[in-house]
Amino acid sequence: MPLSRRDFTRLSAIGLAAQFAPKLGAQSSDRKVGYAIIGLGRIADHFMRGIQNTQNSKVTALVSGHPDKAARIAAQYGVPKSSIYNYENMDAFRDNHEVDAVYVALPNSMHSEYTIRSAKAGKHVLCEKPMSATVPEAQAMIDACKAANVKLMIAYRCHYEPTNLRAVKLIRDGAIGKIQVIQSAFGFNCDPKDWRVNKPLSGGGPLFDVGIYCLNATRYLTGEEPTSFSAYAYSDRSDPRFREIEASISWVSKFPSGAIANCSTTYSAPMDGYFRVHGSQGWIEVNPAFVYDGLVLKGQSFADGKYVEWNEPNPEKDPIHFQREANHFSDCILHNKTPQSPGEEGLRDMQYIREIYRTAGITMA
Ligand code: NAD
Repeated sequence: MPLSRRDFTRLSAIGLAAQFAPKLGAQSSDRKVGYAIIGLGRIADHFMRGIQNTQNSKVTALVSGHPDKAARIAAQYGVPKSSIYNYENMDAFRDNHEVDAVYVALPNSMHSEYTIRSAKAGKHVLCEKPMSATVPEAQAMIDACKAANVKLMIAYRCHYEPTNLRAVKLIRDGAIGKIQVIQSAFGFNCDPKDWRVNKPLSGGGPLFDVGIYCLNATRYLTGEEPTSFSAYAYSDRSDPRFREIEASISWVSKFPSGAIANCSTTYSAPMDGYFRVHGSQGWIEVNPAFVYDGLVLKGQSFADGKYVEWNEPNPEKDPIHFQREANHFSDCILHNKTPQSPGEEGLRDMQYIREIYRTAGITMA
């Protein structure tokens, strides 16, 4: 389902309101949603630390191919040995009543299999971005969760992050006039040993991993769906990292209101993750915009003949984004609500990634 301008206004309002709302456990129920964490890598560590700060979520099971690591983390989070699974026997958590939901934190091309298996085991699914490695996989994930009557949310942190939401709200309130141009970028120098450069695991290059933040931001900043793309990609095939995937890709997208976004992503240069929105009566920049903390919003407005300046550093610290994300999904589970970033939101980005690749001459399913 496309997210309309109205949806994002709603998203902003809910997201901002969430900061001031009493904690769920204290408010209405002491029931905590139990999560099985599938994949115990870097992002899972942030997520588990975030969960500890919520009052409505807890880690109750682990799924890992590394028994020693799983045992160490289980001890840290009070997970019993009987709730440690591996990738083969994971489906047995169907009968574990301490597991209500899973958090899928595996390489991209594994998201669909583990989402579908979890749904078939009757568990709600919070899946990391990008949703999948292909568009048909993303659709299959949505279908499987619908068939099993479980919720599916894609872990778009920025949808629940106050500085990003503040930018959306200022724009919706007309603070910088009509959006003309958006610039956004996000990249880093990828380690040659990282699964991210292995196409069968990643599905694609930096566009899948970090460019998706820029793509998704252009959608929530405009509150519109892009109508066309034009892209260029570059790969230095002599660099072993880039035999299968693009090293860098830049794209321009057009939105129905006339707004134009130009975005870049790379695995071969350090590149701050940021966006800058140029409106007819001012500008707003969030830089950094996509990292785990230290976000700063700046801008100037000349709307209605009045000069306003913003300089708003966000003092919050990691793992607050993950706390908010888990809190939101658990709230949806406990109160039977639809997540703000459901599977359909992830599917849209997968469709746009495919279109960006197509215009750059790269084929994707
Ligand atoms: P990571 O390499 O740190 O962890 C991956 C985990 O998957 C490891 O525990 C590894 O053991 C396990 N795994 C299982 N089978 C594997 C295989 N065949 N090859 C490699 N690893 C295998 O990766 P990560 O940075 O935690 O990324 C995991 C997912 O989270 C990715 O989809 C990524 O895009 C996403 N991510 C999201 C954010 C965010 O802010 N939302 C940030 C980073 C990563």
